[in-house]
Amino acid sequence: MPEGDTIFRTARTLGRAFIGKPVTVFRSTYPLLTRFNDDTPLAGQTVDRVEARGKWLLIAFSGGGILASHLLMNGRWHIYRHGERWQLPRFHMRIVIENSDYQAVGFRVPVAEMHTARSLAQNTRIPRIENDLLNAEFDAEAALERLMARPDETIADVLLDQEVLAGVGNVFKSEICFVNGLHPYRKTGTLTRDEAAAAIACAQRLLKANVLVDSGDTIVTYRSQQRRTTHASDPTASLWVYGRAGDPCRRCGELIRRRIQGTDARVTFWCPQCQPMPDGSDVDG
Ligand SMILES: [Zn+2]
Repeated sequence: MPEGDTIFRTARTLGRAFIGKPVTVFRSTYPLLTRFNDDTPLAGQTVDRVEARGKWLLIAFSGGGILASHLLMNGRWHIYRHGERWQLPRFHMRIVIENSDYQAVGFRVPVAEMHTARSLAQNTRIPRIENDLLNAEFDAEAALERLMARPDETIADVLLDQEVLAGVGNVFKSEICFVNGLHPYRKTGTLTRDEAAAAIACAQRLLKANVLVDSGDTIVTYRSQQRRTTHASDPTASLWVYGRAGDPCRRCGELIRRRIQGTDARVTFWCPQCQPMPDGSDVDG
């Protein structure tokens, strides 16, 4: 599942290749996009903006159309120079946008729709710009209010809720809870305002750090004291708890636990020692 930092990097790369340049070709396997393009050809328009909104990628064209795509589990945008060989099979192609230098290919993009600024503002599934942790317009105070307004939900579930914070995926969820010493099953109503604000600040910091490092899809929240001489092939080597069930906690040595959590049945990892429940109760891992 691409997390907010992955979408952000995709948006940044697409922006560098496409912003300000005229589109030469637009193609899609989606009938609604094809029809939009027939009525209002995108070829000849320029790309004005490319931005991430949580897990949505928005491409705004000079004619006013905004292509919103959601990558869900397997969707990817690749950029190629003309004539370069695609790294995924042609039948996975859903959208192609070209300019004189580059070709952007949306592979297995399961959700793609055309919006106007107006329909985008009215859309409740695509997060608002000020909810996006990686956007300069992110409003931490408003995010804190939204988080505190869900006192009966667990902190892990609320962190994943894109209407509260846009950008946190399942890996970051467990990592943010660990870094803040919060048991993932704690109801947000048991958090102090300071604890909740710290969790939000941490989410922003971890996502931003991962946008800066050129780590591909590998998420880095933990850095070993020892320099690695060989390339780490284990993606969990750079994480505190995610994917480390049964391994010793990097802080205290207690064994990391794992459990399926929430209505969406997402896997959660935590250290029972570093992330205790305030009342001393525990959840079987
Ligand atoms: Zn621990």
